[in-house]
Amino acid sequence: MRAPFEMRDGDALGRIGELTVPRAGRTVETPALLPVINPNIRTVSPARLEAEFGAEILITNAYIIRGTDDLRERALDEGLHEMLEFSGAIVTDSGSFQLAEYGDIDVTTREILEFQHAIGSDVATPVDVPTPPDATRETAESDLETTEQALADAEAVDTGEMLVNAPVQGSTHLDLREAAARHADGTDLDVFPVGAVVPLMNEYRYADVVDVVAAAKRGLGADRPVHLFGAGHPMMFALAVAMGCDLFDSAAYAIYARDDRYLTVRGTRHLGDVDYFPCECPICTSRSPDDLRAEPDGERERLLAEHNLHVSFGEMRRIKDAIREGNLLELVETRARGHPTMLDGYRALLDHARQIERADPASKGSFFYCSAESARRPEVVRHHDRLDRLDAPETLLLTEGNAPTGDRFDAAWRLLPPFGPVPRALSETYPFTAELPDRLDRAAHEAAARGVASLADANPDTDVTVAHDGWPDSALALLPASVTVEPLGARPDGDDE
Ligand SMILES: [Zn+2]
Repeated sequence: MRAPFEMRDGDALGRIGELTVPRAGRTVETPALLPVINPNIRTVSPARLEAEFGAEILITNAYIIRGTDDLRERALDEGLHEMLEFSGAIVTDSGSFQLAEYGDIDVTTREILEFQHAIGSDVATPVDVPTPPDATRETAESDLETTEQALADAEAVDTGEMLVNAPVQGSTHLDLREAAARHADGTDLDVFPVGAVVPLMNEYRYADVVDVVAAAKRGLGADRPVHLFGAGHPMMFALAVAMGCDLFDSAAYAIYARDDRYLTVRGTRHLGDVDYFPCECPICTSRSPDDLRAEPDGERERLLAEHNLHVSFGEMRRIKDAIREGNLLELVETRARGHPTMLDGYRALLDHARQIERADPASKGSFFYCSAESARRPEVVRHHDRLDRLDAPETLLLTEGNAPTGDRFDAAWRLLPPFGPVPRALSETYPFTAELPDRLDRAAHEAAARGVASLADANPDTDVTVAHDGWPDSALALLPASVTVEPLGARPDGDDE
C-alpha cells in the first residue's frame, strides 16, 4: 500500500507535508525529527519526548530488540508502544546498520519484517545493504542487487497496515542512486530513506550529501516522503529540507551528549570550551556552563541531551516557519555562513537550481539578495530560462534608472540585477520585488548581463540599449556586441567590485 503523503506549503524542494501512518492512527507533520531511542539506554524517556518536546514520531532498532532476550519478550508481549511509553508513530530499523558495521547479521528481510510487525512497529525496514561512500562501482552495483532483492522480499510479506521503508542506496555513484530511487519508486513500498550518508556527514562532506539527495530525488516521484537516514545535526537540517528531505532521525542528541558535546545550528562545541550558552532553551537559561559542568556525569549527559533536542526541534520549527514565509533559501544561506563546508553544501544545492526550480513556487514572500550565491538561485535561473518567451519591441531600453521621456525607444524595461531585463508590467510580481543591498557584488551584475544576452539572443531584430549604473567590466564583457551600452552616470573611481 502507499503512504498517503500530502504536501501543503513548499519552498525550493522543501515542503510542509502530512504523512499518514495508519497503524499508529496518526498523521505526522513533516519535516519531522525522529529521536533515536536506544532500547537499552533511555537518555530522555519517549514519554517526555512526546510531552515536552512535541515528538510525533521516533525510531528504534528492531534488530537490537530481537537480539536481546528480555527486550524481545517484552516487545512481543506488550508491543512497542507500551514498552517505550510512546503513543506517536514508531519507525523501526532492521539491522542494516549492524550489517554495514560488522559485515554479517543473522536475519532475513522476511524474518525481520515479520518481527517488526509482531512488535507493533508502524514503519518497518527491510535488510538493505548500506554501501559506504566512495565504494567501487562494482561493489555499489552488486550491493544494489541485494537491496533490490530485499525490497522484493519486503513486498511479498503481508505487513497489513504497517508502512515499509524502501531504502535508496548506490554509494556516491549518482547515476546508481538515481536508478535505485527509480526502482524503489516502482515498488509498492511507502517511505524512501536515502541511506549510508552518515560517513559523508561525519566528514563534513555536505556537498556530496546534496548531490546524493539530488540524484535520489530525480528518481523518486515528487509526492514520495524522503527520509535522510542518520541525519541528526541541526546545522544541516535547512539544507537537507531545501533538497526535499522530509524525515530526519537524530541519534546525535544522545551520542554527542555522552561526550560533552553541545549542538548548535552553527556546529558542535565541547562543553569545556563554552563560556556563555548561545541558546534560549530551558536548560541553558536556568544555569551557566559552570553549573552544567559541575553536574554528575549521568545528569550532565541528560541535560546536554535535552539541550541538543531543544536546538534540533527548534531548528525544525524555524524551517517550517521559513517554508511558510517563503524564505527557506534565505535560511539555508544563513546556515551556509556558519561553516565553510555548509557553504560548499549550499553551492552544491545551487548547482541543482534547475532541478529545484521545477518544484519551487512561482510566488513567495520576498526575494532577499544576501550574497553572491543569491545570483544563482532557482528564481534567477527560471527568469533566464523564460526570457525567450518575452516579446521585445524593435528598440528597447533596459535601464537601472527611470524610464526616459521622449520616444527614442519603443519600450523601456527595468534592468534589475541579478535577473536582468524585467518588463515593467512584471515589476511588482515575485521575484522582481527583490530586496537588494546598495553595494551589489560582481555576481549580481554578471547574472543580469547573462539575462540581457539571453534576451538579445532570442530577439535578434531588437536594438537593445543597456543603461547601467556603474557595472564592473566583468559584467559588461558578458553583453553581446550588438547591445549599445550607456553608463547612467560616471562614478568617481571605476570601482570594480
Ligand atoms: Zn540550550
